[in-house]
Amino acid sequence: MNASTGGEPASTVTLFDRDPGAALKHHFGFEAFRPLQEQIVADVLAGRDLFALLPTGGGKSLCYQLPAVMRPGLTMVVSPLIALMKDQVDGLRTAGIPATFLNSSLGYADVRRRMEGLARGEYRLLYVAPERLRTPDFYERLAEWGLARIAIDEAHCISEWGHDFRPEYRTLAELRRRYPAIPIAALTATATGRVRDDVIAQLGLRAPHVYVASFDRPNLTYRVTPKLRAPEALVRFVRERERESGIVYCATRRTTEAAAGRLCAAGIPAAAYHAGLEPGTRARVQERFVRDDVRVICATIAFGMGIDKPNVRYVVHYDLPKNVEGYYQETGRAGRDGLPSDCLLFFSAGDIAKQQHFIDEKPEPERSLARAQLTQMTRFAQSGECRRRSLLAYFGETYPAGPCGACDNCLEPRARVDATTDAYKLLSCVVRAREASGFGFGLHHLVDVLLGHETDRMWRFGHDRLSTYGIGKDRPRAGWLALGNDLLRQGLLESEGAHNTLALTPEGRGVLAERRSVEVTSAPPTPARRGSTPTGGGAPKGDGSYDVTLFERLRTLRRRIADERDVPAYVIFPDTTLRAIAHDLPRTLGALRRIGGVGDKKLAEFGQAFVEAVAAYAEDAAAPTAP
Ligand code: ADP
Ligand code: ZN
Repeated sequence: MNASTGGEPASTVTLFDRDPGAALKHHFGFEAFRPLQEQIVADVLAGRDLFALLPTGGGKSLCYQLPAVMRPGLTMVVSPLIALMKDQVDGLRTAGIPATFLNSSLGYADVRRRMEGLARGEYRLLYVAPERLRTPDFYERLAEWGLARIAIDEAHCISEWGHDFRPEYRTLAELRRRYPAIPIAALTATATGRVRDDVIAQLGLRAPHVYVASFDRPNLTYRVTPKLRAPEALVRFVRERERESGIVYCATRRTTEAAAGRLCAAGIPAAAYHAGLEPGTRARVQERFVRDDVRVICATIAFGMGIDKPNVRYVVHYDLPKNVEGYYQETGRAGRDGLPSDCLLFFSAGDIAKQQHFIDEKPEPERSLARAQLTQMTRFAQSGECRRRSLLAYFGETYPAGPCGACDNCLEPRARVDATTDAYKLLSCVVRAREASGFGFGLHHLVDVLLGHETDRMWRFGHDRLSTYGIGKDRPRAGWLALGNDLLRQGLLESEGAHNTLALTPEGRGVLAERRSVEVTSAPPTPARRGSTPTGGGAPKGDGSYDVTLFERLRTLRRRIADERDVPAYVIFPDTTLRAIAHDLPRTLGALRRIGGVGDKKLAEFGQAFVEAVAAYAEDAAAPTAP
C-alpha cells in the first residue's frame, strides 16, 4: 500500500499543502474543523510548541495528522496505546496516507522492513511507544529519517500528578535535549492545571500555546436510574439498542461475567473483559468488539483506554464509579463520531456502602482522598440538577443556565410527591427493630418486615411480632427500596458499618416527633432512547430521517470491504457518513464527494461501490423507502 505513495515529487506544492480546509476535505473527507483544531493545526504548521487539552472525541489525532500530510518530513507520534497503533495506521493508509508504527508487537524482520521504508522516506507518520526511544541509536536514526515534528499523545502520562502516570514516559524529557529545533505538540484529554504545568515543564516546551477546549460533549445524554432489578433493566436497555455497540462498566470481574452471561442468555452477543483474562483472550475480545462481532462488552475499567471505536452508542455504569473524573472519561468513550449516544448510570445506596467498605481498607492519605471523591460522585448521582452542568462544574467550566436538553434532570424534571405515610412506616420500622434487638438492621431486612415476609431472620429475631410487621404489603419491594434510598439521600436515615445498618438521623427523629410531612422525588421513567426509528438505527439529531433499510445495506457493503482488507469497518467510512448517504442518496461520485467523511482517496477506491449500492436500492421497486 505504501509503494504507490513513495514517488511523489517533493517540490510540487499543491492547494492541499497550502490550504488546511482543502487538505481536510481532500485527505480526510471532513467538511469543517472541530473547535480549536484549525488553530492547533496552524500552530503545528508554523513549527510552534503547543499543549492541547481536548475532550475525548474532540479530534486530537487530526491536529498532527493533517500537518503531517501538508508538510514534508516525518511526524513521530508517541503513544502508550500499542493496541491502538495498528488501527490508526490502517485508518491512515485507507485514506491514502503513508504511515507505520514500531512497537513490541512486531517481529524482528517486520521492524527491519519498516525501518528500511523509513530510511527511504516512504512514510509521513511514525507511531512509537515510549519504550522505543530507549533503543540504542534510535535518536540517530530519527534524524536520518528526516524527523520534522513530534506529537505526544496522552501527554498527561508523563506527570506523576496525573491519574495515569507511566514511568516510561519520563524518557520523553530527552527529546527536547536531543532535538532542540524540532517542534513538539503535547495532547491529552485529561489534565488539571497542575498536570498541565508539569507536562509543559517535563517536555521542555518553549513558550507553548495552550489550548483548552470545552469539555462539554453535546451529543451525549446523561441519565441516572435507581439500581432496581438491574439485570433485567440492563437487558431491556441493551435490547432497545440491539444493532448498536456499547460498553457496560462493572466494579468487579464477577459482575462483568454475570452481566455478559445474562445478555448472552437473552440472545445478545456480549463478552466480559477484565484484568483476570489472559492477554491473548483480552486482545481477541477487544478485536471482536472493534470489528462489530460482539456488540456489548461488560468490562472493568481496564477496557476502553486502548480503543478508538468511534461508534460506541452507549456506556452503562452498572456499578457506581469511584470518582467523577473516571465517570466522565468512561462515558466519554461513547459517541466519538458526534452522533447522539447514551450514558446510563445505575445508582443505589448499597453501592455507596460497598465502595465505602473498600475505602476503609486503604491506608491514609489515600483513604481521605477516595472518600472525598466518592462523596462527589454520590452527590452527582443524587442531584436533581442538570447533569451536564454539574459535570462541567467539576472541571471548572460554567455551563449556561437553563435545560441542556440531554440529561434526565432536564428532560424529565422529576415531580415531588407526598410520601408521608409510607415514610413514617419505614422510619418507625427502623426504630422498632433496633429497640427490640438492641442493634440495627439493613434496608432489605426492614423491607421484609414491612412486607410481612416469613424469613429465617424474621423468626430468629422475633421481628414478626413487631408492630410494623406486614403493614407495607400495599407497596412493592422495589418501591420500598426506592423510598429507603430517597430517605437516605434526604438525610432522614443514615447507614452505618460494614452491614449498612440503618438508623434515624436527628433530622429523621424530628420528622417523626413533629409529624412533619415528607416528600420524595418521583421515580424516573425507564430511560427511552432519543430520536427513535423503526429498526433502532437512531436518527441523527436535528437532521430528521434517513433510510434505515439502505443504511443497513450500506453497513453490509462496508463490512465486506473492511473484511477484504482486514481492517475495522469504521476505517472504511464512519457511521455518520453512511447515515448521510442513506439521507442524501447520492447517485454520482460528485454528489458522494460532498458528503462528510468522503475524502478523495476513499472516493476513488470505494466511491463506485457505494454509488452503485444507492442506485441498486433506488431501482429496487420492491424496497420500501422512508419518508
Ligand atoms: P480524540 O483522540 O480526541 O478522542 P479522535 O482523534 O479519535 O479524537 O477523533 C474522534 C473522531 O472524530 C474520529 O472518528 C475522527 O475521524 C473524527 N473527526 C476528527 N476531526 C473531525 C472533523 N473535523 N470533522 C469530522 N470528524 C472528525
Ligand atoms: Zn441537563
